[in-house]
Order: sequence, then C-alpha cells, then structure tokens
Amino acid sequence: MPRPLRLIGWFMLILVLMQAPEVVTAIPLSSQLPTASQQLKKATDRHAILVQEYKIEGNSRAELRAQLDQLGPKDSLGANRDAYTEWNIAWSWPFLADSKPNFSQTQSRHSITMILPRWDSANGTDRDLLGQWENYYNALILHELEHVEHAVRNHRDVAEAIRIAAKKNPRLNTKEANKIARDTLAKIRRLDRMLDERTNHGKTQGVNF
Ligand SMILES: [Zn+2]
Repeated sequence: MPRPLRLIGWFMLILVLMQAPEVVTAIPLSSQLPTASQQLKKATDRHAILVQEYKIEGNSRAELRAQLDQLGPKDSLGANRDAYTEWNIAWSWPFLADSKPNFSQTQSRHSITMILPRWDSANGTDRDLLGQWENYYNALILHELEHVEHAVRNHRDVAEAIRIAAKKNPRLNTKEANKIARDTLAKIRRLDRMLDERTNHGKTQGVNF
C-alpha cells in the first residue's frame, strides 16, 4: 500500500512493504557464472540493485521445496514466494526562490531489492537434483530481472508526467503533482502484475521446483 514517508523536498512512496527474510547476506558472485547470474551481475552493476539471499538447506527436492515455502519472502499481497523483487520510485522537484515548487525540473529515481534463495549443496549431492536446481534458479533470476526492467525502464515516466502536466497547467499544485506521480506508478506496477499473471509467477518460464 502507498505510504507517504516525509515531505522534506522529497516525496517518497513505498509501494510494497514486505516481510524481510530471516537470513540476509550480500550476494557472492564467482567468476564462473551461469548466464542468468551473469545477467543479474550486469544488472546489479548498472542499476545498484540490492540482492538479498535467504539460505535454504536440504538434500532432496522435497526438502528444498519445503524450505522455500517456509523461508521465502512474502509479496505485496502476503503470498509466499520463492523470490521477490521490490522496487520503489521516488520523485522530487527543486524549489524556486519564492519557495514555489519548480515542477519543470522534477526528477525521479528507483531503488530495487531482489530477494533470492541460496542453496549451498553438500559434496556428493545427486547430480540430477543439482541440474534441476540450476535450471530452476536460472529461470527464477531471469523472471525477477523482468520485474527489475519494469522499474528501470519506466521510472522516468513519473517525473516526465509531472513535467508535462506543469507545462500544460502553470498553476499545478503539489497535491496534483503527487497524484499524477502515483497514477503513473500504478501503471508501472501493473506491468508487474501482468507479467505474473501471464507467466503464473514465472512457472511457464521454468520457475518450477
Ligand atoms: Zn513475478
């Protein structure tokens, strides 16, 4: 749910409040990476995405599945997920000398957090299981990166919508500007929902374990 945080030049909206996973660590990325991890690294290098991991343990598919169900993050609706990408978009405008907002200079920016499972398999783990996990994990990352793209590609629309409105209406006020921003955000948020509806949260893309 939207929640205005504070009004000190910056107007921030936290769109999704989610439950933090139990274990949070920085992501380790070795030099030998499968494709999906490479893409994730590229994205994190470029867009300052915070990647958080929660650790799961097990020696069978059923054990790992149970751990994912137990420890995975909750989405904005409170549903259990194996992974979750939370993005927020903040917008701001400078003020003129008479302390009137200068909407024509509005800027917006995004912040993104991705929560992923981490399984450190033990020596001697069944090769089939390792293969199944790798396929699943790669598909999971690729799906989450699509959510990332929604924020990265569209966050500027929020500021632009305000700038355009201010050009059309020189008497635009703060309340109206914030409403325009929230409406634009809702459109971007819809892309996330459509993706999850279309792919059943990635299942049709191989996010199955
Ligand atoms: Zn999704």
